[in-house]
Amino acid sequence: MVDLLEKHKGMADRFQRMLDMGINGLGVTNDQMLSPTRAMVGNREIILAGTNNYMGITFEPSVIAAGQKALAEFGSGTTGSRIANGSFAMHKELERSLAEFLRLKHCIVFTTGYQANLGMLSGLAGPKDTIYLDADSHSSIYDGCTLSGAKLVRFRHNDAADLDKRMARSEGEEGGKLVVLEGIYSMLGDRAPLADFVALKQKHDFQLLVDDAHSFGVLGPNGRGLGDEAGLEDGVDFVIGTFSKSVGAIGGFGASNHPLFETLRYAMRPYMFTASSSPASVATSIAALKVLKEQPERRAKLWANSERLFNGLRALGLQTGTDVVSPVIAVKMPDELTTITKWNALFQAGVYVNMAVPPGTPNRLCLLRCSVSAAHTEAEIDRIIAIFKEAVA
Ligand code: PMP
Repeated sequence: MVDLLEKHKGMADRFQRMLDMGINGLGVTNDQMLSPTRAMVGNREIILAGTNNYMGITFEPSVIAAGQKALAEFGSGTTGSRIANGSFAMHKELERSLAEFLRLKHCIVFTTGYQANLGMLSGLAGPKDTIYLDADSHSSIYDGCTLSGAKLVRFRHNDAADLDKRMARSEGEEGGKLVVLEGIYSMLGDRAPLADFVALKQKHDFQLLVDDAHSFGVLGPNGRGLGDEAGLEDGVDFVIGTFSKSVGAIGGFGASNHPLFETLRYAMRPYMFTASSSPASVATSIAALKVLKEQPERRAKLWANSERLFNGLRALGLQTGTDVVSPVIAVKMPDELTTITKWNALFQAGVYVNMAVPPGTPNRLCLLRCSVSAAHTEAEIDRIIAIFKEAVA
C-alpha cells in the first residue's frame, strides 16, 4: 500500500526539528485577547505585531454591538449558500455599502478572502483563457488559477516589461487575457507599480484584476486601495478584497463596473457551493466599514506607526522586504534556523511576529514578518524596536 501521508514526511520532520528546539512559531495560542495589539499567551502578556489588524477595529464597541445584535436577531449561521438558501438582507446591505465605498456598480461578497480569489479567478477565466500572474502572488491566487483551468503565465515580480514580453509571445492566441496584481504584496510589503501595468493596456488586449487584500482601507487618499493611491481606478477592471485584515472580521469580496458582473454569481463554484457568511460576520463587516469610512484618522495613524517601525528597524541595520514604508514590514533572515531562533528570542522577550518561511514566501525567503496596526501606541512600536535590537540585530 502507498501511504498517502508519506509524502508529507519531509514537512513533518522539518516541523519536529522546530518543536525539538522547544519552539512552535506556527502554532501559538492566544489564551486571551486584551486588545487589538495585546494578548495573553499562558501567563505572559505579548505585544502583537503580526495580526494584519491594520485599522485596529476588532474591539470597536459599535462593531461588537452590531455583531451581537445580528447574532441575537438572525441566529448563529446561515446554514447554506445564497444560491440554495437565499440571502439575508444584510448580505445585500454589505454589498451595497462596499460598492458605494469603492464607487463601483457591482459587488459580490464571499465567505472568506481565499474564496473570493478562488471564485473570481475561476469565474473570470476558463480553459481557453490565459491568466498572467505576478510571480510573488499569494497562494489563494495560484489556487484560483488552478481551479480556473486557464493557461498560466507567470511574469517577474512587479516587472511590466517582462509581462509585455510574455504577452507579445502569445499574441494572436484565442481566449481572453487576465492580468493579476496585488495592491500590497503580503510577504514583502511592496506594492505593484500600477501605472506601468495600466499603460500596457494601450499595447495589449487584457483585463486587469487587483487583489487589494492588504491594501483595502489602507492605500489611497480614500482607502479604496492601490487604484485609489495611483489615481488609476478606471484602469482596474476587477477588485478583490478581504474583511479579515483592515475590516477586522472575516469574509471577502469582488467588485467591478462590468455590466455582466452579476452573472458570476451563477458561475463561481466557491460562491455557489459553500455556506454564506454568518450574520455576526456580515454585521460586523458592515459596522467596521462604517468606522473605516468615518474615521480616516485611523489610516493616518497606521501610516505614522508604519513609518516609525520601518525607520526604527532599518536604523538597527536590519534588511527589510521593501525600501518604501509599508504596514507590512518583513525583516530578512539568512536561513530557516536563524529565523526560528530569532523568532523565539522575540517571542520570549514579549513580541509576536509572523515566522514566514518557504513555501509561504517568494524566492524561498526567510522572514520575520511584522504588520502594523493603527491601534499600536508609539510606546508599543518603540518597545517592538527595542526588543528587535536586543533579540535580532
Ligand atoms: N489575498 C491575499 C493577498 C492574502 O494575503 C490573503 C490572506 N493572507 C488572502 C487573499 C486571503 O484572505 P483571507 O485570509 O481573508 O481568506
